[in-house]
Amino acid sequence: MLAKRDLFQKVFRKIPGQVLEIAGALQREGGRVYVVGGAIRDVLLGIEPKDWDLGTTLEPPQVLSVFPGAEVDGIQFGRVRISGVDVVSLRAEGEYLDRRHPSCVELGATIEDDLGRRDFTVNAMALDLHAGDLLDPFGGEADLEGRVIRTVGEPEARFSEDPLRILRAFRLKAELGFNIAPEVSRAARNMAGLVSSVPGERCFSEIQAILLSPGACPAIVELRDAGILQVVIPEIFGDSSFHGPNSQRSTVLHIAKTVGFCPENLPVRLAALFHLAPPGGWKEASRRFGLSSKLFSHVKYLLKGIPLSTDADPGYVVRKILKEAGLEKFHDVIALEIAKSLAARGDAIPQTVVDLLAGVFSSRRYPPESYLKLKITGDDLMREAGLSRGPELGEAIEYLEEAVLRNPNQNTKERLLLLVEEWRKKRSGSVCDEGEKK
Ligand code: ATP
Ligand code: MG
Repeated sequence: MLAKRDLFQKVFRKIPGQVLEIAGALQREGGRVYVVGGAIRDVLLGIEPKDWDLGTTLEPPQVLSVFPGAEVDGIQFGRVRISGVDVVSLRAEGEYLDRRHPSCVELGATIEDDLGRRDFTVNAMALDLHAGDLLDPFGGEADLEGRVIRTVGEPEARFSEDPLRILRAFRLKAELGFNIAPEVSRAARNMAGLVSSVPGERCFSEIQAILLSPGACPAIVELRDAGILQVVIPEIFGDSSFHGPNSQRSTVLHIAKTVGFCPENLPVRLAALFHLAPPGGWKEASRRFGLSSKLFSHVKYLLKGIPLSTDADPGYVVRKILKEAGLEKFHDVIALEIAKSLAARGDAIPQTVVDLLAGVFSSRRYPPESYLKLKITGDDLMREAGLSRGPELGEAIEYLEEAVLRNPNQNTKERLLLLVEEWRKKRSGSVCDEGEKK
């Protein structure tokens, strides 16, 4: 084990210049400044930190007087954001009344108080930039060495203050490959139900991190075994294949394996997580998690599956996906198909993907512009084919687009005008048929 001063040096050397500049400016204003949070943990583990957080004895208005242009989101919790670096005024937290937010935040706290309110020992270290020392009052460095996740204080008390920490323990484990200490694991299991009180948005940021972590596959199964997955994402359960504890476990194991075979890509992994969920499950969950409509529809598209029937021309299917969804989703469709196939049968390349590749090959003779856009406009169709604006025009365009996807050689103005005539005849035929039936 390195001496504290050596540990200080090891982290100090990695601090980005911009973070040191912010710290220097705050020190010149009379503040004590500390590096806090996950960056210390990551550097000591030899991982590149995602972000750097600073703690200071200055109060938010003083921080703002040094950096008048800073973002003040979260100022009630003492947080000011300066060029992407969170500067948090040292605080101790009052009681947690609603299991989410402390009832009050006491500024003017010491660094020890501040570290004491943090979730896990490995996240509760600080670098004292003034004294040149690493502060580690809860044995975080020893837990890093032992690769163990332990709460600061009693796990029951800390989890009931903020049940999101239960999920954060699994997130850290999945990211770092650590073990959760037995008493922490026991408390998480006993208190799983409390996670239902955590807002969906907060849960989702941990779920996202778990899904994209190296330990995603085992984490999903462990979360189900601890009774947490059922509370955090109840929408993936409910189908008959989930009934009975054994079949539920094997279904979740299958889902987890599918996620594990996906690339590190959020929409694909979310689609794998929901691919056996009952209809409407994804919509319900994405609303609760407060997801963007872009992410919602991306995953929804992947969940729809590939429109490949046995008699479909694979070239047509490929062109249809590219037109409807674009190249990125096309890649994602293939990645998900491969992951599903690997999880189900151990086949690296399922038949659907073989067919899609054949489709890509046969489509190579058609440049994208030959089928992505009709060589006739709506105005042309009204002027030259006498169509009227509204549903009639819409239906005709849909017919032409479909015909061009099937055979891109048909995408010439002359041919499209002939096809409109064909469509008109079919349409009036089907209208007559409808009339006769009545
Ligand atoms: P990452 O590298 O993924 O950002 P992190 O440890 O920095 O990991 P953040 O969510 O950015 O995690 O939080 C920053 C720090 O704030 C944590 O290291 C931890 O000390 C503290 N923290 C965050 N959430 C909680 C919580 N719910 N309860 C107590 N402390 C928390
Ligand atoms: Mg962070």
